[in-house]
Amino acid sequence: MDTRGKPMLNVASPPPAELTRAHCRFCLPPAWRVRLAALGTLLLAACGGLPIDTTHVSRGQDSRVQFVVLHYTSSDLPESLQMLTDQGVSSHYLIGATPPTIYRLVDEERRAWHAGESQWRGRTWLNASSIGIELVNPGYRQTAAGRVWYGYPQAQIDRLIALLQDIRQRHQLPIDSIVGHSDIAPQRKVDPGPLFPWRQLADAGLIRWPDAQQVARLQPGYATALPDALWFQQQLAASGYSIAFSGEFDEQTRNVLAAFQMKYRPARYDGVADAETAALLAALNAAGQP
Ligand SMILES: [Zn+2]
Repeated sequence: MDTRGKPMLNVASPPPAELTRAHCRFCLPPAWRVRLAALGTLLLAACGGLPIDTTHVSRGQDSRVQFVVLHYTSSDLPESLQMLTDQGVSSHYLIGATPPTIYRLVDEERRAWHAGESQWRGRTWLNASSIGIELVNPGYRQTAAGRVWYGYPQAQIDRLIALLQDIRQRHQLPIDSIVGHSDIAPQRKVDPGPLFPWRQLADAGLIRWPDAQQVARLQPGYATALPDALWFQQQLAASGYSIAFSGEFDEQTRNVLAAFQMKYRPARYDGVADAETAALLAALNAAGQP
């Protein structure tokens, strides 16, 4: 990633040496190459002794980054840092809880190993097309009464929203490119969990949100006649989720419903289809696809 010359968040960056590894001393960062080429300046880059003429820049390109995936680490900061830097998993960013320091662990131009088998809006294996952000958070603890979840400090969320706005602007991401691990892998993941404040991301203009008045209008009708399983599956697929159209409220459907409910109706996320969930789905999809 090259962020020089742009307003930057207070990111705990790798040492400057990392940047110099990405661009040899004879090369300019891509953004500067584009600017100089636009001015008609002949620029010959010489990487590793191989002369490359970079004066012609194609319009037919965009960012590798199409999505941002949010996670929690299930552990404290030292363990999170150790796990994400010294094992076979990683993320581009890690945000501490207190203080909410942003660590960059993987360059945005490179793949981090955070999503695993995943799917969203028909795209699969999202490591190649996403930025992964891990939030230091214990996740949940199991009790006799069920899972007890840990909340997120507001300062951590504030820092995350600032980082997301920065990423979205730099990569020109459409609204709703920001998803949870539970959205893209609902059969096996629950992070960032039901206490993650998705509503704040909606208020910041980062994700769509079902219109409350429309939900209130739609809900009584769905309470009278609850749509069938195929309707729910089609609506969930239209929202971006990967789901099989089995026509039954089977386990895979309950898992996807639970992921949707954790995000938009965290007061109850049992995966059971109900009128409010139907109204939320219909209102969200009525708000249009990105
Ligand atoms: Zn995760």
